[in-house]
Amino acid sequence: MPRLFALFADLAGRTVVVVGGGPVAERKVAALLAAGASVEVVAPALCEGLLRQAGNGTVRWWRGRFEPARLDAAWLVVAATDDVEVNREVAAAAEARRILANVVDDAALSSVQVPAVVDRGPVQVAISSGGGVPMLARLLRRRLETELDASIGDLATLLARRRGDIRARLPAPADRRRFFDALLDGPLPGLVRRRRMAEAEAALDAALAQPQASTAAAGSVVLVGAGPGDPGLLTLAALRALNEADVILHDQLVSAEVLALARRDADFVAVGKSAGGHSVAQSRIHALMREHARAGRRVVRLKGGDPFVFGRGGEELEFLRAEGIAWSVVPGITAAVACAAYAGVPLTHRAHAQSVRLVTAHCSDSLDTLDWDALAQERQTLAVYMGVGSLATLRERLIAAGRGGTTPYALVENGSRPDQRVIAGQLARLPEDAARHAVRSPALLILGEVAGLATELAWFGAPPLRGEVPLPAAA
Ligand code: SAH
Repeated sequence: MPRLFALFADLAGRTVVVVGGGPVAERKVAALLAAGASVEVVAPALCEGLLRQAGNGTVRWWRGRFEPARLDAAWLVVAATDDVEVNREVAAAAEARRILANVVDDAALSSVQVPAVVDRGPVQVAISSGGGVPMLARLLRRRLETELDASIGDLATLLARRRGDIRARLPAPADRRRFFDALLDGPLPGLVRRRRMAEAEAALDAALAQPQASTAAAGSVVLVGAGPGDPGLLTLAALRALNEADVILHDQLVSAEVLALARRDADFVAVGKSAGGHSVAQSRIHALMREHARAGRRVVRLKGGDPFVFGRGGEELEFLRAEGIAWSVVPGITAAVACAAYAGVPLTHRAHAQSVRLVTAHCSDSLDTLDWDALAQERQTLAVYMGVGSLATLRERLIAAGRGGTTPYALVENGSRPDQRVIAGQLARLPEDAARHAVRSPALLILGEVAGLATELAWFGAPPLRGEVPLPAAA
């Protein structure tokens, strides 16, 4: 079979006939209308949506069976009926008139096929499997869909608007090619992605003013939230950043499954902090970010959960700002949100909790600065990060401030990971329960009325382990 020839058709104002009045025809009509075509539908009856469009004049309806004369004004015909005979007639009539025909799901009858499309405004990526394996085309489309940033359309629009200037400045195609190469490797795409349109325009002006100047790629740092561990909880923006990275500086908390999704030839640098050595490690991380960004590399600073929730993301951005290095931030699913979901514990609930607090119980310093009276209030949920070492203090302070010993808790270890464990019990026995089950970091404590749902609503991994129920006298 010969190869198909790829075309993009300008259908604006041109008549396209769609044969068929069902939901498949309706989808084709919608796509054709979006391309500005003047659509005529031939069918004995129409589904609800098409009927409405025929009623308000959006499409023209030829009521009745297909006849070849319906194609007299057409540039293109789409047969979307489930009647093979009618589809055959349409294809034959189109052939006789030398107009192109697409028969939905029938490559043999079609003289033109409709590709799977990744749509980014003026930029469209069309995929064909030659009609033989539409599934494969759809699969590829899905992949590209996640890979191509939504801002590509805006980049294309900007460059199209300035096309005249670019051609005037660089008349020779070879010069233009070099120019575009450098331009797309430079800061421009990142500026458009960050919606800094005025700066993007200025970057384009600067490049045009000195097209020969080798725009040494400006390095940058993206702070990316890697989520709690399950790679399915990564955002598309995070995945894209990982695919574009030259260097990935990642925390210990970031799971191997997430790292496996990153660009293979990126440099991976583990900057995991061991407890105790914090300030040294943090300054080392700053130095690494600076070193790589200054060398023109795209640096991803990959953090567990969300970079702005107990992730020191703020400090890192302040450093980058002081150093004049470009940055952006991709949020991640923070441990509280992920552990709650994967343990079946809603953080808020009309009947049980009207507010949530994200708290860290990392060291005695942070414990002393907390407002325990506020934390001990009822009908609120505490999500405690880094609390494994402070459970006894937590219990003591909360109960002293008035929180009841029977308040339910759910302690989630390795949330969202294959080895997730959930311990569900009551505040009065929290440290003993945790010790008995040898709970280790990373673990998140959810304390409050909502945690009472942990057993009922569990759906992921091993069922929750029950904490000991305190003796009534001790409670
Ligand atoms: N920036 C991260 C938090 C870093 S602090 C975020 O937004 O999630 C590290 C603490 O987060 C751990 O001590 C633990 O309390 C919690 N944590 C992170 N990942 C976790 C996971 N998969 N399961 C349970 N707790 C987790």
